[in-house]
Amino acid sequence: MTDEIRTTCAYCGVGCGILAKADGQGGVTLRGDPDHPANQGRLCSKGFALGETLSLDDRLLAPRINGIESDWDSALALVAERFSQTIATHGPDSVAFYVSGQLLTEDYYVANKLMKGFIGSANIDTNSRLCMASTVAGHKRAFGADTVPGTYEDLELADLVVLTGSNLAWCHPVLYQRIAAAKEARPDMRVVVIDPRRTATCDLADLHLALEPGSDVALFNRLLAAIHAGGAVNREYLRHVSGFDDSLRVALAEDGAATGLPPDQIDEFCQLWLGTEKVVTVFSQGVNQSSSGTDKVNAIINCHLATGRIGKPGMGPFSVTGQPNAMGGREVGGLANSLACHLDLENPDHRERLRDFWNAPAIPAQAGLKAVDLFDRVRSGHIKALWIVCTNPAATMPDANIVQEAIAGCDFTVVSDLTARTDTARLADVLLPATGWGEKDGTVTNSDRTISRQRAIMRAPGQARHDWDIMAEVGRRMGWTEAFDYSSPAQIFDEHARLSAIAAAEGRDFDISGLTGLGRDGYDALPPTRWPITAQGQQARFFADGGFFTDNGQARMIPVSARPPVAQTDAAFPFRLNTGRIRDQWHTMTRTGKSPRLNQHLGEPFLEIHPDDAAQLGIPPAGLVEVSSPAGRCILRALVTDRVRCGHVFAPMHWSGQSAPTGRIDALVSSIVDPVSGQPESKAAAVAIAPH
Ligand code: SF4
Repeated sequence: MTDEIRTTCAYCGVGCGILAKADGQGGVTLRGDPDHPANQGRLCSKGFALGETLSLDDRLLAPRINGIESDWDSALALVAERFSQTIATHGPDSVAFYVSGQLLTEDYYVANKLMKGFIGSANIDTNSRLCMASTVAGHKRAFGADTVPGTYEDLELADLVVLTGSNLAWCHPVLYQRIAAAKEARPDMRVVVIDPRRTATCDLADLHLALEPGSDVALFNRLLAAIHAGGAVNREYLRHVSGFDDSLRVALAEDGAATGLPPDQIDEFCQLWLGTEKVVTVFSQGVNQSSSGTDKVNAIINCHLATGRIGKPGMGPFSVTGQPNAMGGREVGGLANSLACHLDLENPDHRERLRDFWNAPAIPAQAGLKAVDLFDRVRSGHIKALWIVCTNPAATMPDANIVQEAIAGCDFTVVSDLTARTDTARLADVLLPATGWGEKDGTVTNSDRTISRQRAIMRAPGQARHDWDIMAEVGRRMGWTEAFDYSSPAQIFDEHARLSAIAAAEGRDFDISGLTGLGRDGYDALPPTRWPITAQGQQARFFADGGFFTDNGQARMIPVSARPPVAQTDAAFPFRLNTGRIRDQWHTMTRTGKSPRLNQHLGEPFLEIHPDDAAQLGIPPAGLVEVSSPAGRCILRALVTDRVRCGHVFAPMHWSGQSAPTGRIDALVSSIVDPVSGQPESKAAAVAIAPH
C-alpha cells in the first residue's frame, strides 16, 4: 500500500479532486478529496468507479507497426521519417494532428508546439471542437478573449440558476449536487432548465422550458427585449459595452414563436430573470453542438452584459466543459485557430512573440483545419500523414462511417492510445502505447479555471510512455533537438507559465506567471489554483468593472437572429434526433465500459421515443428499432418514455463497434457545422424510425 495521493478525476470538466491509494497489485482505493475546491469530498458514480477501470486486459503494452508488435526505436523512427518526408514532399499543411481534451496540459502543450511552432502548420485540432468550440468563439466575440468569467461558488451564491442545454445531473453530477445542496439550504433559490427533453436535471427545476431544438437564440432575444421593456438595462454598466442598440433592435424583432413555448411560459421566465439580481446562466452541449452555437452563446452573454450581471458574486454566463482538460487545451492553443496562452493567431505581434519565445522557424499565419474539414482533407488525400492522440474519431465524429473510411485510406496514420481496440486504433499504421489515468503526471484545468495536478499512483505498464514524452521524442528525431529537450512535465509547465507572462504583457487574459519557477518540488506540491495568478498573487474577478480584452476594452454585444437546425425533418426522415451522454458512461466507454457497476445503469444502446410515436410505429417497449438518416443507420433498443416529446427521439453517444449496424449514433449525424466555430450540429439530425 502507498500513502494516499492527491489527484484529479479522469472524466468531466468539474475536475473533482481524488485521494487515491494503490494496493501494489494493480488495484486502487479512492475517495473524494475533502480539500479540493471543486468537489469538497464529493464524487459521482463514474469517479467512484475509477478503481474498477484499471485492469490491463485490453491494454496496448508495446508499439505496433502494421499490426505487428515492434519496439519504440523502430516505431518512433518510422513516425519521424514519414512525417519529415511528407512535409518535404508536400509541404507542412499535408500533415495533421487530431488530439483530445483528455490529454494533460503538458501533453497538449508539446503537441501544439510541435505542429504550430516547428512543423509550421496550424493543422492541429481536437475533439474539444465537438465539445465547446462555440463557447470559445462566443467568448472571443464578446470579451475579446476566451475567458470564463465565473466560478463554481457563483452557482451556489446565485438566487436564480438557469441551466441551458445542460443535463447537469448526469453530465456534471458533482456540480449538480452543489446546486441541489445550495437550493436545499436556501429554498428561495430558483432553478430553470431549458432543454427540449425532460432530463434528470429537471428534478431540480422550478420551471422547465421544453423549447424547440436550436431555438435558444429566439428565447434569449425575447429575454433581452423584456430586459429593455422592464427597465432592467444597467445604463451605468453599458459604458463598458458596445453593440447594445443593434442587439436590441434585432431582439425586438423576435416574437418567440420559434421556441414553440407558450407565451406565458416565456413571460414567466423573463419575469423571474428580471426580478432576480443574482443570476447565473449555465450552458453546455445543447448550446454548443448546434449550427447556431456561437450565436446562442452570444445571445446568453448579451443578456448578462445588458444588465451588468457579470463578474460579480452569483452572477454571469457560465460554460461548463465536457472533458477533464478542455480548458487546458484552450489555454495551450490546441485548437486549429488559436495560439498558446490565448495569443491570437491572426495577430502578427502575437505570432512574433511566440516565435521568439519558442525560437521557432515560423508561426503559421493561417488557421489550420477544424475537425470536420480536417477529416474531409484526409478523405480527399490532401492530408497524407495523420497522428491521432487519445481519442476515437472513427466513432465520435459526425458522418462517422465516412471518417472511418477516410482514416483507413490515409497514406500514414499514427494512433497513440491505451488500447488497440477502439474503432480508430484498429486503423493505425503505427500504434503507440500511451499511459493513462493513474499513471500520468501533469495538470488539468476545470470549468472554473482551477488548475489541478493529476498525479501518478502506479507505474506505467509494459512499454507505455507519456504523450508529452512520445511527442517530444518525435520532435527531436525530426531535428528540433533543443526545442523538445524535455525531461519532465514540471519543465513543460514552467515553460507554459513563462509564456503566459509574455501573453499577459500583450493584454491577454491567461496569466499563470505566478506559477513560474516552481521547480520539481513546487510543481509536485502544487495545490488546486485558479487562474489568473500573477507574481503578485491571485487576481480579483474578471469583468466586474469592465476591463475586457478587446482593442477598446469594451465588451461586445452581438446582434444575433434565431436560425433553425440545418437538417429539416420531412416525410422520409420525420423525427428529430437528439444525442448526448448518460450518467454512468464516458465517451466511447474504453474506460467506463470495464466497470460492472457502471454497466448496470443502462447496459446497451437505446432510443428514447414517445409512447404515442412508439404505438403508431408498432414498436413495443424494449423492442428493437432501426434508426436511419441519409448518413447511416443503427439498431437500438426502444426506451418508450414521455421524457421526449412526440416527433423527437434521443440516443446516447457512447456505443460504437466495427460491425454495422450498431449503436454508433454519430454514423447518423451529418457534418453540418456552426459557420463561426466549426462545431458540428450533433443534436438535431433528421431520422427515420422503424421496428427492426
Ligand atoms: Fe469525475 Fe465529473 Fe464525476 Fe467529478 S463530477 S467525479 S470530475 S465525472
